[in-house]
Amino acid sequence: MSNPYRKDFPLLNQKERSKPLIYLDNAATTQKPDAVLNAMEEYYKEYNANPYRGLYDISEKATEKYEEARRITAEFIHAKDSAEIIFTRNATESLNLIAYSFGRSFLKEGEEILIPISEHHSNLLPWQQLAREKKAVLNYLYLDESGNLSEEELEAKITEKTRIVAFAYVSNVLGTIYPVKEIVEKAHSVGAVTVVDCAQSIPHYPLDVEALGVDFAVFSGHKMLGPMGIGVLYGKKALLESMPPFLTGGEMIDFVSEQEATFAPLPQKFEAGTPNVGGAIGLMEAIAYIKDTGYDKIKAAEEELTAYALDRLRELSYVTIYGEKYLKENRSGVISFNVEGVHPHDVSSLLDADGVCIRAGHHCAQPLMHYMGVAATCRASFYFYNTKEDIDSFIESLKKVRRWLGIGN
Ligand code: PMP
Repeated sequence: MSNPYRKDFPLLNQKERSKPLIYLDNAATTQKPDAVLNAMEEYYKEYNANPYRGLYDISEKATEKYEEARRITAEFIHAKDSAEIIFTRNATESLNLIAYSFGRSFLKEGEEILIPISEHHSNLLPWQQLAREKKAVLNYLYLDESGNLSEEELEAKITEKTRIVAFAYVSNVLGTIYPVKEIVEKAHSVGAVTVVDCAQSIPHYPLDVEALGVDFAVFSGHKMLGPMGIGVLYGKKALLESMPPFLTGGEMIDFVSEQEATFAPLPQKFEAGTPNVGGAIGLMEAIAYIKDTGYDKIKAAEEELTAYALDRLRELSYVTIYGEKYLKENRSGVISFNVEGVHPHDVSSLLDADGVCIRAGHHCAQPLMHYMGVAATCRASFYFYNTKEDIDSFIESLKKVRRWLGIGN
C-alpha cells in the first residue's frame, strides 16, 4: 500500500478473521498511532500519579504534563489563554456542561435556542432538556433540497429572541460543512451566544476560535487519533468566569467550610475530581501527529478518497447516496447511503464478513432521519490513512450484498 501513514497505526495492520481490516468508520472513532499509544504507556509505566496535590517528583511531572497538554490544545485551536481550555470526558460532556452551567444561569423564559435539524443527539438533547426546564423555545434550522443551510433560513430563524445558536461544524451523517463564520456573525448580530460542535471537523480541518469568533467550541480526543475519555471545552474566558461550576468535589475548590465553599479559578473550577492525565497526554500526542502530518495533506487525501468513493458508489444503480448534491467544497469524507431492499444493519453485517467496518443506524440523529424520511442509513467515513484499495474492497463487498440475499445484482 502506498499510503505512508498506515505503518504508524498498529490496528490497521492487523487482520480481521484472516482478512485485512478495512476500517471505514472514522466518524465514530479513529485509530491511534504508535506515538499516542507509546506516550500513554510511558505515563502509566513511568510517572503515573495523581496531579496537583502530590508533593513528590512523579506527581509534579504528571501535573506538568497535564498542563502542557492544556497549553498545546489552546495553541492548536488558537485560544488566547490556556485557562479557556477545560478538559472533559468527551464532546457530549462539554455540551452538557454548557447547557447546564451557562444555559441554566442565563437563559430566560420565552428565549430561543436554535440548532440545525442535522445535529447529533449530543448537541440536541441538552438543549431540549434546557428548553423544557426554562420554558424556552427550541427552534430548528432546516436544510434545503440539496442538503445545505440557506442564507434565507438563517435570516428567518435568527431573531431578537435567539439567545443560543448551537451547531456542528461538520455533520456526522451527511458530511456537510457548515459556514461557521457566517452563522457566528449572524448570531452575534442579535446578541446570541454560539456553541460550535467540532467533533467531526477537528480531525480534518483546522480550528481557529479567535478568527471565527466562537463563544464555545467542543470536541472529543478519540475522533482525532487520541484516546477515548478525554474531551475539550473551549469557552471565552469572560463567559466561563461568569458561569457556576458544573460538577463539584475535589480539585475545583478554593476553600470549603461546613456550609459554604468558594471555587478555584479557571480552568480548575470546571474540572472536579481526579483528571484524565493519561488521556490528556494522549491528546497532546495526537495533536502533534496531526500537526506533523499537516491539515493540508489530510484534507487533500480525504478529498481524493471521497471523490473516488462517490464515483464508485454512483456506478451501483441500487445505491442511494444522501446529500449527494452538496457542493464539493461543502462536504467532508462522510457518505451516508442505502442499498435498495436491504436494511442498513444487514448491509453492515454482510460487509463485516469481508472485514469491512462501516456504520449503520440513525447515527444519533433521529430528527434528521425523520426529516429525510428514512429510518436508518449506512455510513462510510474516511480518514487520511485510508486508501483507494480500502474503497475498492468496500465496493466489491457491497456488490455482493444483494446477491447474498438473493434479491438481484
Ligand atoms: N457531535 C458530533 C457531530 C458527533 O459526531 C459525535 C460523535 N458521534 C458527538 C458530538 C459526540 O461525541 P462523543 O460521543 O465523543 O461525546
